[in-house]
Amino acid sequence: MLLYLLWGFWLTLAVYCFWYFFMAKTFQPLTWDNLALTWRLHKQQTGCTASRIHSLLTSDDEVVGFKCWCGCEFRQRRLITQRVLKPRVSKTSQSLKVLMRLEEKR
Ligand SMILES: [Zn+2]
Repeated sequence: MLLYLLWGFWLTLAVYCFWYFFMAKTFQPLTWDNLALTWRLHKQQTGCTASRIHSLLTSDDEVVGFKCWCGCEFRQRRLITQRVLKPRVSKTSQSLKVLMRLEEKR
């Protein structure tokens, strides 16, 4: 009897751990570099001709994604275990501004 309980306990724990590590996803704040990269990738892949990002998607005052003029929406989703440990880039929107300028020149 005790053995069954023990097995049940471990099974529950194993399932929970599995869920935690592989299933639990959370919105992660984007860095501007990330945002610019994702947007550029989107334009390459879809041939989107938008020159600017329509709006930024925020959650708790953090940028978690963006909406393109073409209607596409992107949200940064990352597994909990893939949490980025390096500190957030503090040069703010510099790289995005550079990207905007590049796109305008075309
Ligand atoms: Zn687009």
